[in-house]
Amino acid sequence: MTLQPETEKIDLKIYRNVVGMLAALWRLRRQESWTRRQIVEHQAQALHGLRSHAYAHSSFYQRFHAGLTERPLQELPVLTKEMLHNHFDEIVTDSRLIREKVAAHVSTLQGAEQLLDRYFAVATSGTTGSPSFLIFNRREWATVLASFTRYERHIGSLSGIVQRPRIAVVASKTPSHVSARIGASTRSSLIPMLRLDVGAPLDSIVQRLNEWQPQMLATYASMTGILAQEQLAGRLQIAPRRIVSSAEVLTPPLRQRIEATWGPGVLFDQYGASEGGTFAVECTFHRGLHVFEDLVILEVVDQQNHPVPPGEYGDKVLLTVLFNHTQPLIRYELSDSIAMSTKGCSCGCEFALIDKIQGRMEDVLALPARNGGTVPVHPMVFYRILDEVPVLSWQVVQEEERLSILLSGDRQQVDEKALVERIQHALIKQGAANPYTVIQWKAGLARGTTGKAARIRSHLGPSA
Ligand SMILES: [Zn+2]
Repeated sequence: MTLQPETEKIDLKIYRNVVGMLAALWRLRRQESWTRRQIVEHQAQALHGLRSHAYAHSSFYQRFHAGLTERPLQELPVLTKEMLHNHFDEIVTDSRLIREKVAAHVSTLQGAEQLLDRYFAVATSGTTGSPSFLIFNRREWATVLASFTRYERHIGSLSGIVQRPRIAVVASKTPSHVSARIGASTRSSLIPMLRLDVGAPLDSIVQRLNEWQPQMLATYASMTGILAQEQLAGRLQIAPRRIVSSAEVLTPPLRQRIEATWGPGVLFDQYGASEGGTFAVECTFHRGLHVFEDLVILEVVDQQNHPVPPGEYGDKVLLTVLFNHTQPLIRYELSDSIAMSTKGCSCGCEFALIDKIQGRMEDVLALPARNGGTVPVHPMVFYRILDEVPVLSWQVVQEEERLSILLSGDRQQVDEKALVERIQHALIKQGAANPYTVIQWKAGLARGTTGKAARIRSHLGPSA
């Protein structure tokens, strides 16, 4: 039995990353006791610093914000994924960072390599098939690392800064993906962490977790459900005190299943993206997700970029990353639909709360409507029904003439006819024409290159 995973070959650079991360953590933790006024003052100051740096060193922002440099944030144009992709060289504030050079560097990544001996690059799946790159200098990267581990304080007194809990992360191990980069740049005996590939065979994941006995488990929402099934079946036997779910929608039925398996209050939802690390996480009061307002500004807006009030779902989120001066992201468009909370939290932290996250707008399916045309069907409609079904995983695929529900797990446990009827009933309620719905059983769950499960997919073109 091996209990010392991936801690060989420790070098000084890794120690430097870890020390940088711990220093950033120390700083961030002090900021969590800020008053509302201190938060607002800090945001104004950090935003001013970010914009001044961008206007001095980024030819893109000099053009993009021409005539607007003195205007408030809410009046600035929105930065899209396409712009970030197409104008990489002009957006970054170090002229040595050229897209081709970054792409070549990323393609050879194996561990914690730095570009020009000071930059950490991360790839994300782009919108046009070619990847987009995010880039951070050493200090900024230390903040990204700290934002991922910051939740440990929010989730109680599991550990101090120095004494770390035994962590298991089941995520993407693609070397250029943010999750793998974080793992590689902190891999040392200072942080007892087991990292497993979410795409590995389930029995091997279960075996490694049984050996490691994590005190904290971090993985995607869909994987928490799969592991709960394994635990209930007796194959997985772990007793984590904290489970952190990220990257996918966490529905109430899934939360209930996790808590029924490992105990009430064990689960903490987390929200973030490669563009800026972790943005928000639940505290022990579970009243919503506290936004890390000292690191980012999140604006919840509708399709026309008008602000949406707390309590209502927006169509997208505009992200401003206050700490990244290397690649300034100002009002960067994320397609997540979230609702801010109308209430505060009594835990003592005054960071604003996200009430609910209902998924990405690109997962909205356009189904033929009863009265002609199409009707948008939100992913939540499927999540609510399918997260309650006792299967290992599910996926909805829209095809030319039908809707396919792909399931994996124990066929005996599912009343297929009743399930199809429930889905059809829900879709008709949404205004869809009665869709031809079929259930297909698959051996495994298809995951994208980032390791996240694509729960909803359309095989139709955008014009369909
Ligand atoms: Zn709280």
